[in-house]
Amino acid sequence: MRIAIYSFSFVLFTLIHCLIAQDQRPNIIFIMSDDHAQQAISAYSDQLIKTPNIDRIANEGIRFANSFVTNSICAPSRAVLLTGKYSHLNRLRDNRDTFDGSQMTFPKLLQEAGYQTAIAGKWHLKSDPTGFDEWRVLRGQGQYYNPTIRDSTGEKQVIGYVSDVITDLALDALENRDREKPFCLLVHHKAPHRNWMPDTKHLKEFSDINLPLPATFYDNYSGRESTAGTADMRIDDMYLSADMKLQPEDYDSETGTGGHLEWAKNAPGNWENSYQRMTEEQRTAWDAHYDEVNEAFRAANLSGKALLEWKYQRYVKDYLRCIRSVDDNVGRLLQYLDENGLADNTVVIYTSDQGFYLGEHGWYDKRFMYEESMRTPLVVRMPGQIHPGEVSQRLVSNLDWAPTILNFAGVAIPDDMQGQALQSLWGDSKSVDWRSSLYYHYYEYPHGWHTVKRHYGVRTDRYKLIHFYHDVDTWELFDLQADPAELKNLYNSAEHQEIVKELKDELKRLQAQFGDTNIEI
Ligand code: CA
Repeated sequence: MRIAIYSFSFVLFTLIHCLIAQDQRPNIIFIMSDDHAQQAISAYSDQLIKTPNIDRIANEGIRFANSFVTNSICAPSRAVLLTGKYSHLNRLRDNRDTFDGSQMTFPKLLQEAGYQTAIAGKWHLKSDPTGFDEWRVLRGQGQYYNPTIRDSTGEKQVIGYVSDVITDLALDALENRDREKPFCLLVHHKAPHRNWMPDTKHLKEFSDINLPLPATFYDNYSGRESTAGTADMRIDDMYLSADMKLQPEDYDSETGTGGHLEWAKNAPGNWENSYQRMTEEQRTAWDAHYDEVNEAFRAANLSGKALLEWKYQRYVKDYLRCIRSVDDNVGRLLQYLDENGLADNTVVIYTSDQGFYLGEHGWYDKRFMYEESMRTPLVVRMPGQIHPGEVSQRLVSNLDWAPTILNFAGVAIPDDMQGQALQSLWGDSKSVDWRSSLYYHYYEYPHGWHTVKRHYGVRTDRYKLIHFYHDVDTWELFDLQADPAELKNLYNSAEHQEIVKELKDELKRLQAQFGDTNIEI
């Protein structure tokens, strides 16, 4: 009898041990903000802001210095994340499209493999999330103050500042997780998306400094008149209401075009809704700051260059204040992992759905294949696999995120995913066999915002070739080594014809490789 009990206990012990061993698969936390430019993360550049918590991920893991997206706009980037496929194949080319949630996505594959999957925050794909055991997402673009949160049962307003609210939902998902399973949690911030409404506790930050103007702030678009020159995203045209947070007496005669006719018509109303959405306490704190600085603005009676540069300061400072909350909340998640013994077996990824213009070329917004918007931050921490403080110069993109996450989980990467797992670029397994060019394709024209013409192109370590099409037929070539700000279009330069030919061949090869050969003009 005793022997039987011992034998039974041994079998039970072995079984439990096997189950525990199976659970050693790493957890994954994927944090993605919205429109967070590399130049506003101190691990990339310390010109504008210190981001100690995002930097901590980079310092304890790897920073990708050359990280990009395939189509620099919100919803399409999210579809690329989920599917690991270019926009023409996941069928979400621009923000008007609805995501087809019946297609294969990495969360579905993780779920099938026994992972627990959850998303908190911005979704922005119109259809309901699929592949998640739990989803609690912002309605549409979401609001900065007291956002409406949707889940499978309906929606409700949650009082608080959006970055804190999203992190509360994420921490709640972690606290209530099924501890028998590894988890994959997506934390998608709204910030720092337009219209850059900071938390009241950060309103005073950056008040006493003048941010430096980017070198290309007064770009005259010479040699790029029909492309960069026709985009409607200049800081000069921002709204005094929603963008600048002035009061009705200041924007009664609003003239900014601000990117979109419909929004232009509704901008003051949209702004008043956002403002009225605050609780009395929030609005009192808000007014305590803006009433004073707006009064100073009125007294200065600015015009011309002085007014434009004032708009730049207000825009970028509010943007940075929003990032302050994102970074604080990244810190809260890292602290939770530390305090709960999860840090050693949890992958942490921080990225954005694309980059953004912070005054470069006189712009805000994204869309273009030019550097500031094609780039996106990417830092990854996984103790034991990634050495602290690694930096990779390889060309990587958001196409690689899904394969990388699946690879962490030990799940086979489907053949039709078009990215490459990044694991071969870090730690002891560094490989030299890596892509030498990236393919890009942007679609949202002539409908949509900001009048950025349709374009596709190829970027290598040194060069970028772009073809703008639809109602133009314009090529641009930039030598990123000689001209990193992309001011000089060399497409017609006699001495560059050889490189133009090589890049056109490479472009054709990439279009064939990724199946983007049937381009609608
Ligand atoms: Ca975005």
